[in-house]
Amino acid sequence: MYILSFQVESLVLRSIGPFYGQKEMLKEKILIVDDSEMNRSILADMLADEFEITEAENGVEAVSILQNHSNEYSLVLLDIVMPEMGGFDVLAVMNRFGWIEDVPVIMVSAETASEQIERAYELGATDFIMRPFDASIVHRRVVNTILLYAKQKKLVSIVEEQIYEKEQNSSLMVDILSHIVEFRNGESGLHIQHVRTLTDLLLHKLCAVTDRYPLTEADISVISMASALHDIGKIGIDDKILNKPGRLTDEEFAVMKTHSAIGAQMLEDLPVHKNNPIVVRAYEICRWHHERYDGRGYPDGLKGDDIPISAQVVALADVYDALTSERVYKKAIPHDEAVDMILNGKCGSFNPVLLECLAQNALHVKNALSIDAQKTSKRQQIRSFADAVMQSKGGSASERTLRLLDYERMKHNFFAEMSEEIQFEYSAGTDILKLSPWGARKLGVPENIISPSENMALSALLGEGWWQRIGDLLNTTTPEKPECSREEQLLLGGEYRWYNIIIRAIWSDDNPPQITGAIGKAVDIHDARMRFNELKEKSIRDPLTGLLNRAGAREQIEPRIHGFPDHKYAFAIFDIDFFKLANDEHGHQFGDKVLSYIAQRLNHSIRQSDLCARIGGDEFLIFFEYDTDIHPIIARIFKALCGVIDGFEVHISMGVSEMQEEGESYEILFRRADQALYFSKRAGRAQYHLYDESMKDILTDREPDSDYEERYGESDPKDPKNPKNHETK
Ligand code: GH3
Ligand code: MG
Repeated sequence: MYILSFQVESLVLRSIGPFYGQKEMLKEKILIVDDSEMNRSILADMLADEFEITEAENGVEAVSILQNHSNEYSLVLLDIVMPEMGGFDVLAVMNRFGWIEDVPVIMVSAETASEQIERAYELGATDFIMRPFDASIVHRRVVNTILLYAKQKKLVSIVEEQIYEKEQNSSLMVDILSHIVEFRNGESGLHIQHVRTLTDLLLHKLCAVTDRYPLTEADISVISMASALHDIGKIGIDDKILNKPGRLTDEEFAVMKTHSAIGAQMLEDLPVHKNNPIVVRAYEICRWHHERYDGRGYPDGLKGDDIPISAQVVALADVYDALTSERVYKKAIPHDEAVDMILNGKCGSFNPVLLECLAQNALHVKNALSIDAQKTSKRQQIRSFADAVMQSKGGSASERTLRLLDYERMKHNFFAEMSEEIQFEYSAGTDILKLSPWGARKLGVPENIISPSENMALSALLGEGWWQRIGDLLNTTTPEKPECSREEQLLLGGEYRWYNIIIRAIWSDDNPPQITGAIGKAVDIHDARMRFNELKEKSIRDPLTGLLNRAGAREQIEPRIHGFPDHKYAFAIFDIDFFKLANDEHGHQFGDKVLSYIAQRLNHSIRQSDLCARIGGDEFLIFFEYDTDIHPIIARIFKALCGVIDGFEVHISMGVSEMQEEGESYEILFRRADQALYFSKRAGRAQYHLYDESMKDILTDREPDSDYEERYGESDPKDPKNPKNHETK
C-alpha cells in the first residue's frame, strides 16, 4: 500500500510539474470564462506564471473550446452570469457530455445567494470563489483542485488497471460465449454489447441514488460482464422455435421460456469455477432476467427485491434494447417512445428506483449506446497504450500522457472523418470488422460487422471470394514488412469503382508470429485509374487507324504466349506494295485513307481472339491462334486485304511464321515473319510466304531489290545494305 501511494504521489508530482520547479514540463492549462475582460485579466495575471491560460468571453465560446480540447484543460474558472450562455448552462453541457469528469470547475462569482452556490455544487462544480478575491486564495484553491483531481484520476486509473487485468481473461471467454449465443439467435452482435453498456450505466446510476444495493466498482464490472451471458440458455432451445420468423404459438412460447432455467442449469452444472464471481452473477442473471418486479414473471415468480439486483437491471436493459433495435419482425422504436413505454408499465414491471434511474438518465442511455462501440475500442486502446507506457517507464504514465493519447485518438477520429477514406480495423480474435463512421456510411453497412467473411452486404460490395483474396494478400506480409495493397472493384450504388486497399497486418509477438488482425483503408482511385487507362490506351494505339501500335501489340501478345505456351500461334506481317505511289500520285491524305481502309479490312477479316497492329508506316502485324491447317487461313486473310480503293490498286506482300516448337518467343516469331515478308517482297511482291529455314539468312545475304530501284529510281530502303533498313524491327 505504501508503494502504491508513493507511486500515486510521484505521478501527481510529474503531472503538475510546473509549480514544483520542473520548468521543462509543459504547463497545465486553465480556461478562464468570464464576460468581463477586467475580471479575466486579473485572474490571468495571478496564474499566468505557472499555468497556460486560455480565455473565453462567454459560455458559448467556452463550450466550443471544451468540445475539442476538454481533455487538455486541468481546470475551468467559470463565471455565473454571462450573456449568450451563463455558467450554469456551461456546467449542464459539461455534464451532458461527461467533460465534468475530466475537468474540474471552480465557479467565480459575486453571487452570494446560497441556493446559487448549492446549484453550482449540484451541477458538479468543485469549488466556489467569491468575488472580490484574494490572489493567494485563488492560487491555493486552483492548485489544490488540480492536485486533488490528478490524484483521484490516477487512483481511478490504477484501480481500473487492476480490475482490467483480472477481467481480461474472463472477458475474452464471455465474449466468445455470448457471440456463439447471438450467432445462434440470429441477432446482431450489438444487442449483447448494448445490454452490457446499459447494465453498467444503470448500476452506476443506481448506486448514486440509493445505498440499498451495496455494490462496489468490481461488482458492477462483474455484473456487466456477466450480463453478456443472459441468454445463454437459448443454446438449448430448438432452432425452429428460436428462429421462427412469425409469432410463437402458446406451446412454442412455453418452450422458449425454459431458456432462463436452462441457462442457469448449465452454469450450475459447471464442474469447476462454480463459485467464480462471474459465474455466480451469470447464474442470477440467466435464471431471473425474466422475473417481474410484481411477481408475475418466470421461472420462479420472484417478487420485488427477492429478484437479485443484477437480474433486475439486465431485464430492464434487455427490454430497452429490444424495443429500440430493429428485428426481422419489427421496426426499431425511437428512444423517447421506448422510455415512455417502459415507464408507463407497458413492457413489464420494474423496480421503481431503477425506472427513476432510467427516467433521469434517458439522454445518457441514448448517447451511451450511440457511442458504445467507439468508446469501448477507445478505452481498450488507451488501456493497452497505458499498459505499455507503464511498463516502459517503470510504472509511471503521467496523467498528461493519457490525456494526450485521448487527444490523439480524438484527432485521429476527426481526420478520419475529414479524409473521406474508408478506414477499417479487423481483429481475428473477435472476428469483428470495424469501419470508420464515414466509411460505414459510404458503404452503407454497419460500423461493426461480426464475421465479415460471411457478411452478404460485403460480398455484394466486393464480389465473391473477396475474403480469400484479402487473406492471400495478407499472407504476403511479414512482421518486418507488414504492409500490402491491392486494387479491388467495389459495387457502390450500382456502379463499379476502383479502390486501392492498403493494409497493415498486425503480427503477434508469438513464436512463430501470427497475424492477429489488420488495419487499413480503401481509397477511391477510380477517376485516377480511368485517366491512367485512357492515357495508357492512347499510348498503345495508332491514332490514324485505331489499331494497336507496335509496343501495344507486344504488350498484349507476350503474356498470351507465356500464359499458354502449348498453344499454336502464328505471326503474319505484311507491307503494302509500292505504297509511296499512293502518296506520290494522290497525295498524303489519300495515303492515310488507304491505311485506314486497310485497317478496317483487317479488323473485319480476323477473329475476335486474334490481334492486329500497325507496326510501321505501311506495315501491319496479325497475330492469331490456329489448330488446323494454317494455309487456308493465310490465303483468306491475304485475299481480304487486296483490292482497289478509289482507283488505287492495293497489293500487299506478306510473311508468316508459325510456331515450330512449344514456347517460342515473341522475338523469334516476329523475326521469322519479317524474314518471310522480305522474301515475298524480293520474290516479286503481291504474294505471301510461310517462313522456312531457307529464308534464315535473307536479311544479310541478298542483292539489292531491282524492282524497287526500277519503280522509284532509288535504292530500296529495305535493302540489307541500307543502314536504315529494319532498324525498327
Ligand atoms: P515496298 O513495296 O517496298 O513496300 O514499297 P513502298 O512504296 O511501300 O515503300 P515502303 O514500304 O518502304 O514505304 C512506306 C511508305 O509509306 C513511306 C511513306 O511515304 C509512307 N507512309 C508512312 N507512314 C505514312 C502515313 O502515316 N501516312 C501516309 N499517307 N503515308 C505514310
Ligand atoms: Mg510498302
